[in-house]
Amino acid sequence: MEGAIRDNGVHLAAVRKSFGAVDVIRGVDMDIRKGEFAVFVGPSGCGKSTLLRMIAGLEETSSGTIRIGDRDVTHEDPARRGVAMVFQSYALYPHLSVYENMAFSLRLARRPKPEIDEKVRAAADILQLGAQLDKKPAQLSGGQRQRVAIGRAIVRAPDLFLFDEPLSNLDAELRVQMRLELARLHKALGATMIYVTHDQVEAMTLADTIFVLQGGHVQQSGSPLDLYDNPSNRFVAGFIGSPS
Ligand code: ADP
Ligand code: MG
Repeated sequence: MEGAIRDNGVHLAAVRKSFGAVDVIRGVDMDIRKGEFAVFVGPSGCGKSTLLRMIAGLEETSSGTIRIGDRDVTHEDPARRGVAMVFQSYALYPHLSVYENMAFSLRLARRPKPEIDEKVRAAADILQLGAQLDKKPAQLSGGQRQRVAIGRAIVRAPDLFLFDEPLSNLDAELRVQMRLELARLHKALGATMIYVTHDQVEAMTLADTIFVLQGGHVQQSGSPLDLYDNPSNRFVAGFIGSPS
């Protein structure tokens, strides 16, 4: 890898996580390629969020290793991992404008003003928020608010985006629109993205690779078509097969 373009793929080997006596993640191996859109699906409580939080460094890994590119980040500080996470509940600062919400982390990092301005405007451009920059969150639609939340992640130019059910609070119509925007964003940024969802249509349309998690393991992984053609168990068949 030395001298090569920075690899920001994500590689998990024998990763485990217990909370007290409860084994939540029981040995997960996965390789997510640089630039790939990976989707985690699985029943509620199977550990999707825990796994994402471990990759982000927000949760300790009990054993095993996590690499981002060629760096072992298993015990690395979250702030050093080059990762941005977007959650389901996108708490924006209500008293701050869209611009200031997006600029927030850059101001904390004491970036120079012109750099902040350039990054915020570039992100607003990508997310079609250019006309909303002076508005407060309360003046925005749900979809625009979720775009601001994504904008806060983009300005930090992460190597890796982690999304934990980011659209589940939106109504069906907005979810469709945001799904298209996420696909467009992935193309535009070329970043590696890992996306947790309950929504089968999101998984099928966004994923390069779907990882089906169940019982603390990866039950199956493959392209949407692989899983559709050759589901390894009932859960996979049910998830892929039945319309929601
Ligand atoms: P999912 O996102 O797939 O719904 P989670 O990763 O949130 O699942 O949770 C997986 C399991 O781990 C659940 O049984 C949950 O109760 C448990 N869990 C998650 N976080 C903690 C924690 N901080 N302490 C104890 N148990 C936890
Ligand atoms: Mg979850």
